[in-house]
Amino acid sequence: MSDQDEIRTPLSSPHTPAGDPAAHESALAGIACPDPAELLAAERDRLDGLLRRSNRAVRAYSACSRLIVKASDETRLLRDICRLMVETAGYRMAWVGVPLNDQQRSLVPIAQVGIEDGYLQKARISWGDNEFGRGPTGTAARTGKPIVCQDIQTDPNLLPWRDEAARRGYASSIALPLLLKDGLVGVLTVYADEPDAFEHDEFDLLVELAGTLAFGIDSLRARVARRNAEQALLDNERKLRALYESLEEGLCLHEIVYDDAGRPCDYTIIDVNPKYEKILGITRKAAAGASAKALYGAGEPPYLDIYARVAETGEPVYFETYFPPLDQHFRISAFSPQRGQVAVLFNDISKRKMAEEELKSLNETLELRVQEQTRELRAAMEAATAANRAKSAFLANMSHEIRTPMNGILGMTQLALKQELPEEVREFLLLVQRSGRSLLEIINDILDISRIEAGKVILENRPFSLRELVEATLKPLEIAAREKGLEFRCTVDPALPDLQMGDGGRLRQVLTNVAGNAVKFTERGCVAVSVAPGKAMNPQRTGLLFAVRDDGIGIPQDCLCSIFENFEQIDSPLHVKYGGTGLGLAISKGLVEMMGGVIWVESELGKGSTFSFLIELDRIEEAAAVGGKAAQARGPKPGLRVLLAEDDPINRLYATKTLQLWGHHVEAVENGQQALEALRAASFDLVLMDALMPELDGEQATRLIRSGHAGDRDVFIVAVTAYALQGDRERFLGAGMNDYMSKPFTHEELQGVLHRATAWTRRR
Ligand code: ADP
Repeated sequence: MSDQDEIRTPLSSPHTPAGDPAAHESALAGIACPDPAELLAAERDRLDGLLRRSNRAVRAYSACSRLIVKASDETRLLRDICRLMVETAGYRMAWVGVPLNDQQRSLVPIAQVGIEDGYLQKARISWGDNEFGRGPTGTAARTGKPIVCQDIQTDPNLLPWRDEAARRGYASSIALPLLLKDGLVGVLTVYADEPDAFEHDEFDLLVELAGTLAFGIDSLRARVARRNAEQALLDNERKLRALYESLEEGLCLHEIVYDDAGRPCDYTIIDVNPKYEKILGITRKAAAGASAKALYGAGEPPYLDIYARVAETGEPVYFETYFPPLDQHFRISAFSPQRGQVAVLFNDISKRKMAEEELKSLNETLELRVQEQTRELRAAMEAATAANRAKSAFLANMSHEIRTPMNGILGMTQLALKQELPEEVREFLLLVQRSGRSLLEIINDILDISRIEAGKVILENRPFSLRELVEATLKPLEIAAREKGLEFRCTVDPALPDLQMGDGGRLRQVLTNVAGNAVKFTERGCVAVSVAPGKAMNPQRTGLLFAVRDDGIGIPQDCLCSIFENFEQIDSPLHVKYGGTGLGLAISKGLVEMMGGVIWVESELGKGSTFSFLIELDRIEEAAAVGGKAAQARGPKPGLRVLLAEDDPINRLYATKTLQLWGHHVEAVENGQQALEALRAASFDLVLMDALMPELDGEQATRLIRSGHAGDRDVFIVAVTAYALQGDRERFLGAGMNDYMSKPFTHEELQGVLHRATAWTRRR
């Protein structure tokens, strides 16, 4: 039994093949002998039927072969095959289904001809092993073998389709798998309107037809693929050609020429693009086929070595070069499309090169200019530094020269005022004292502004009592205000901690300036000072916001900024009559900014002003602050033994008298030498050492004391100097002094020094 029979059997109704004599005999056995003429007629009919059916299969087969040869489109071919099955071969319906890999494993019709009337949609034929997959089409798709159903009405596998098939007159069917080299492409199913239609020759011919059809599809696909590839190649070529023609760079293809010894000796130009023609001025006609030697002139062909290396190694190169025959610069990239050949892409970069050259020379000129300017600037800076140094020295000298006699004037006036004096003399002396103080203030202001500008002011960072500071600062101003008939108010926000860390002295200076101005420029109404917490930019610090409001003469809008400049005063009769130096606000601004803050003013002419400033201070550890405050509160006990070395007799007298008044013992000497002798002879709790003295100055004397040349080498030494510039303090401390006090000193400053000396002695 053949394979074909095996597959045919499960779906076929048992039937009796017409040509089988044994079967024929058995069919006749047991039957009453019929009329031979009738038998003959029946046999003829059967044979006629067979012949007719074979004929239609033959017709279908030959028409199919013709179609396949002519076919150019696969879907159309399949539809034409279905049509010939119905129209030429006379079957009832034919369709081609393609297996899908979906969940239902559907077979989707892609071609169909004949009476169908929605059959395929209802049939839901599948190629899976399920209820809808056990018909001829599903089984053929699954197994890849042709399947025949001889009688749809009796075949149990056709049960799901039986009624619908009968309605459309399908009596039998054949499903023919279309198998290509790489698998099943679809199934051609044909329905006949009579049972047992697909037997013998008809079956064989249809199977063969399916094979031919599959082969036809295969070669059609190969033809299409080849055509597509050819098309793609053509497209590519077209694109490359377009690129070649429209390239913004010159392109030429060379073939290297070798001599008999196998050495490269020349190259032939195979092809060039239009840009090549344009850049080099050589036509494609002249270039193509020419040798480089001939084309570009005698001698070695340009860049032969480089091109030969590229052609041999296949390694691309890139270089920039100057080409003397054309007096042009080129950027060249060369690569090898195949062994022995070099494609060269090049661009004229002469303009760029020229621009680069220009830029280079421009840069050089600029550099020279910069060097020149740097030299000039350096010279100017050196001159400025020298001038600044001279200014500092001048200020130092001036401050010394003026402060020393001022110290004497003020000190002696203070002492004289303690004596019994005629009233008139007392008034004169008070005037001397007031004028002296004003003069000292002016000197201090000038000095201050110079130091701030030179960045030579260093802020102290010590604990202080905010409320004490505000009260002490404002007290004299309050008195002055009340004397002018003004109301004076001051509030410190209770939320503010009293102990603050910073430069209390400088804060006091700013507050004095601003509040002093408020009192000065107000004739009636009120001056109100308030201190409140402010928002510090730095979250680690505390912000203090001061506001000084007055009902005074006010400030014109256009002067609100300029009044913070050096020596700026408002040029109006109203303001000018008050006098002043125009330095207070400039100093205040400088100091506030050093404290990390800002100062500003809001004002209306004739209605008053509000000056505000915000400063930032370090946060203070409460415990440390309390300790500091307690220590400050303790004053120096009387009875200290003080050695005073001072060459100026007035200053000597003033200091001696003051210290004696406070109950201390003073020995006064006139220079460093005498100070050493005094120290050798007796012991002291502290030495007040003037810096500038004849014979032996304060610094030298201190060094000698510290090196053990005179008595107690660790005695507390305070430098007393009229120098008040940045660096003095460091210099004196460097010489071995313990403390520093600038002249003229206040009683508080002197007491502070005594206090520190006491603490020092106690610690020893
Ligand atoms: P001075 O008061 O010594 O002239 P300042 O720098 O302190 O210098 O002030 C500069 C100028 O700003 C003053 O001359 C004055 O014209 C103006 N000014 C300052 N404070 C006030 C104020 N509270 N009311 C009106 N004008 C003021």
